[in-house]
Amino acid sequence: MAGERVLIIDDNRSARDFLADQVLRPAGYEVLIARDGADGLHQAVRESPDLIILDMHMPRLTSAELLNMLSQQGRDVPVILVTEYGSEAQAVHALRLGARDYLTKPFVVEDVAAAVERAMREVRLRRERTQLTRRLMTTNQQLERRLQELSTLISVGQSIIAQLDLQTVLNRVVEAAVRITGAEEGLLLLLDEDSGELYVRAAQNIDDTMARALRLRVQDSLAGQVIRSGKPMAIGDAGLQKIKTAYLVRAVVYVPLKARERIIGVLGVDNQRSERAFSQHDIELLSGLADYAVIAIENARLYSATEAAKGRLEAILRSTEDAVIVVDETGRLVLHNTAAARAFEFKEEEATGKALEEVIHNEALLMLFTPPMQARRGEVVLGDGHVLNAHVTPVAGVGYVVVMQDITHLKALDRLKSDFVTSVSHDLRSPLTAILGYVDLLARSGPLNETQQLYVEQIHHSVKTITSLINDVLDLSRIEAGLDQAKVPVELEALLHEVVEGSRSQTEVKGQQLTLTVTQPLPPLLGNPARLRQAVANLVDNAIKYTPEGGEIQVEASPREGQIVLRVRDSGIGIPLADQPYIFDRFYRAAAASSGRTGSGLGLSIVKSIVENHGGRVWVESEPGRGSTFTVVLPALAPVTTSQ
Ligand code: ADP
Repeated sequence: MAGERVLIIDDNRSARDFLADQVLRPAGYEVLIARDGADGLHQAVRESPDLIILDMHMPRLTSAELLNMLSQQGRDVPVILVTEYGSEAQAVHALRLGARDYLTKPFVVEDVAAAVERAMREVRLRRERTQLTRRLMTTNQQLERRLQELSTLISVGQSIIAQLDLQTVLNRVVEAAVRITGAEEGLLLLLDEDSGELYVRAAQNIDDTMARALRLRVQDSLAGQVIRSGKPMAIGDAGLQKIKTAYLVRAVVYVPLKARERIIGVLGVDNQRSERAFSQHDIELLSGLADYAVIAIENARLYSATEAAKGRLEAILRSTEDAVIVVDETGRLVLHNTAAARAFEFKEEEATGKALEEVIHNEALLMLFTPPMQARRGEVVLGDGHVLNAHVTPVAGVGYVVVMQDITHLKALDRLKSDFVTSVSHDLRSPLTAILGYVDLLARSGPLNETQQLYVEQIHHSVKTITSLINDVLDLSRIEAGLDQAKVPVELEALLHEVVEGSRSQTEVKGQQLTLTVTQPLPPLLGNPARLRQAVANLVDNAIKYTPEGGEIQVEASPREGQIVLRVRDSGIGIPLADQPYIFDRFYRAAAASSGRTGSGLGLSIVKSIVENHGGRVWVESEPGRGSTFTVVLPALAPVTTSQ
């Protein structure tokens, strides 16, 4: 076979010639000849033949000695022993010494060729195995290197996730770039959008002063070319390259830092001394690191933008005069401003994270957080007499935001206005009574014609309307002034029956269905029966008034945990969401509802004042076109404990 060499060690010339000329050379083997054992050993060591054909009986060194010495020197060459006919015992001995095969003289060409071929097959197999092992080892080494590179990439990735400090992350990226590619230096350049120059943001093994001074123009530098093309670039094997005047390198590779189609800089490594150029694999690794760097830069930009926005928001919150409190969905305080801490007298630094009722003890404010939670408005009176107008707004994913404005001066004005309205109303009542009296007298003082009769009736109706408005105003000021404080135990069920039956005729006229449902006995409550009747009647009157003909009105009451819950439901026109926060205000009338329906806008203010006067709450849930439900919750009278 081409290149395969066989060493014949035999002192018999004709045997040597036969083997060489008849068998080996014709089969393509290169033949080496040794005439005795010593020469054979010498050539076996020097030439490293692929096969030895060894005569057993030779002068100077016996075949056994030769085999022994070869094995001592660690030479594992296959050997075919040549024996004389009839000396099989020696052959067995030689095989024990490590010979692969044996031939007996006189030679037969086919036998020798077959023995040589057998031995060589083994040689080839062994050679292939050795090559395979070597290849496996190389692959293994490459795999280990890849693993090392990957774990470096992963650790850079992890440090980016864990680190918010951009400089630390970028230093690690450049450090990893140098380590993975085996480069001498590394640098990360960012583009200064204003000057159009690249400046060093992080560097490894580059002198600090040099790094600080290094500014590369996008138009005429290698790094700038990467920015312009958006593609990696590697230069090596082409002599010295100029990164900048007086900054020469032998090999360099740059990869772009791509942030969403925009190139913000380059990551590069170079060799100043070594000739070694960078491979495609190095470019791929650098590109992986560049992606990490971009994530870190973007994260840091987002983080600082968020921090700046947060700072601005905090500054606005801090400086605002309105008290602001943010509570999470579990009722814990997550944010507040100084105005809130001042108003509710709590220590700012200890409040965050605590349950609202642990920090703030103002009943009116806590009442705004009783279920069902929804957008709500209420007045909160502080310990020093100041009045705040509080708005609770649910914010998805945050919880509830309460903004409170100081309306003390508005309340004072309001009181002045109320006092004025009350005194004017009071003064108006007597002349109105007189007008009504004279109108009645007119009819009795002589016959009136039909037109006069009609005018008198209209005057009568108008004066009645004004009188009822004035009565409402005076009622409201009486209730607000707390003049109806005398309270007695009231059985609400009987009172509800009275109101419902009293309204029945009105509903019959409009073809409406009016029902009262009290499923469980109601506990008594402490209250003013006349005022409570007035409150329920106002709600039922409104339900009738704002429900078209044929609609339904349901009055329901039930006890619940020491309270009585009263609901007046109607299938009427409903109240737009925008109007809902204001309908309990004095003189407020929702535009759509009030058109064509008479009213003063005082009915619900009276209801609210009466309910609050009884320690209760009232609210509305309504959907335009579907109806409204007014809910009143009143505290039940605590059971009287009698001592024995
Ligand atoms: P009014 O004299 O206008 O009825 P109220 O104080 O009783 O005054 O009610 C205030 C406003 O609330 C009404 O003008 C009306 O827009 C709205 N409103 C009250 N009750 C209902 C109801 N049951 N259905 C629809 N709207 C109502």
